[in-house]
Amino acid sequence: MVKEERLDMFCYQCSQTARGTGCTVKGVCGKEATVARLQDNLLLATKGMSAYLYHARELGYTDPEIDAFVERAFYSTFTNVNFDPEDFVRLAVEAGEMNLRTMRLLKKAHIEAFGEPEPTQVLTGTVKGKGIIATGHGLKALAALLEQTAGTGINVYTHSELLPAHGYPGLKKYEHLVGNLGRAWFDQKQLFSQYPVAILGTSNCVLLPREEYKERMFTTGPARLPGVQHIEGYDYTPVIEKAKTLPSLDESAGDIVLTTGFSKSVILSLAEKIKQLVERGKIRHFFLVGGCDSPLKRANYYREFVQKLSQDTVVLTLACGKFRINDLALGEIEGIPRLIDLGQCNDSIVAIEIAEALADLFGVGINDLPLTLILSWMEQKAVAILWSLLSLGVKGIYLGPILPAWVNEEILQVLQKNYDLRLIGEPEEDIKAILGG
Ligand code: SF4
Ligand code: SF4
Repeated sequence: MVKEERLDMFCYQCSQTARGTGCTVKGVCGKEATVARLQDNLLLATKGMSAYLYHARELGYTDPEIDAFVERAFYSTFTNVNFDPEDFVRLAVEAGEMNLRTMRLLKKAHIEAFGEPEPTQVLTGTVKGKGIIATGHGLKALAALLEQTAGTGINVYTHSELLPAHGYPGLKKYEHLVGNLGRAWFDQKQLFSQYPVAILGTSNCVLLPREEYKERMFTTGPARLPGVQHIEGYDYTPVIEKAKTLPSLDESAGDIVLTTGFSKSVILSLAEKIKQLVERGKIRHFFLVGGCDSPLKRANYYREFVQKLSQDTVVLTLACGKFRINDLALGEIEGIPRLIDLGQCNDSIVAIEIAEALADLFGVGINDLPLTLILSWMEQKAVAILWSLLSLGVKGIYLGPILPAWVNEEILQVLQKNYDLRLIGEPEEDIKAILGG
């Protein structure tokens, strides 16, 4: 992996800062570039974890131990507190462990509120009538919207990371939750212009809106967009009233039907069968292909990678990276789907628990399973998840579409030496390196 260095560090958090503008080579306080970068890494992982914590708290679930870690992580990046690079690596691993705990908390919150997901087919076209598109990750916001729109004749569509909502019994029970429109978060300007409906942004991954749909867009929870009406709390009357004033959509079938909602229980009910298929050589390898998608051209890698896999492989997927591949007809291996959508990015905990259960079943460690992780990262949740995987000792992860920009040679060496972390290369060569032959 070759990385071009431009700026060693950037820190402007205290009055000693170089030239009054920023320490960019080494801190006036003595902070080395690698420490500054590891501090940034820790802050990014903690931000990611905070998003999950927020959604768990929304549903009434909190954990004082996680809160205490968040304080400690922030404090460690304060001026003149901690100059020890090794401690920042330890803190990053601890952030990964705390993020596992956070994802477990959020999963529990989701399941206790809405039931455990079950495989569900989701239409991708439109139904005749007025509509609202909900985007983001907020299941509580979506649940409130569905409850408030019941009986109004307004249809609700999910976008991007709300696709997995369709698998939850407590949400799929609403017949007016009619489908999923668009793909990953970055198509929203085009998508929201295309459909004359009201729009509700429930979390991160909202984009600054175009003028043409600004007045029919709303935000709630942590999302805020200048010029867009924000709704505090969960009373979405303004969204519903706006939807009523807009034209009806025509009936139009989508190009594909998506399947989401493979929970841990569903996969574990198939565990014995999966074990037999592996032992009989029918399933050669599992791949987890997913994560946060980004619009970089390099991210085409993930689709090409899956397209080039042989028929004896199974692909697990999650987060909005799934939209790179979830239209592919991969078929089945004796009743086991070759493409299994586990849910949102926070459902990485489901993938981890499934891998742990399969490792137990096969009597091996996670790293000895026929499983390789091919991950894409975009923002800070993915950083938290990466450290969660590293904290479990998962080795040989392929990461892309680019190496995180705050990783310098020194940090990269630690990631490679301790975790055998790899940057994605060319699909065919990477598949050959993983599967051999
Ligand atoms: S904390 Fe250190 S590196 Fe940061 S601005 Fe102050 S002197 Fe510079
Ligand atoms: S998976 Fe990541 S990039 Fe995608 S919508 Fe969720 S937070 Fe955003």
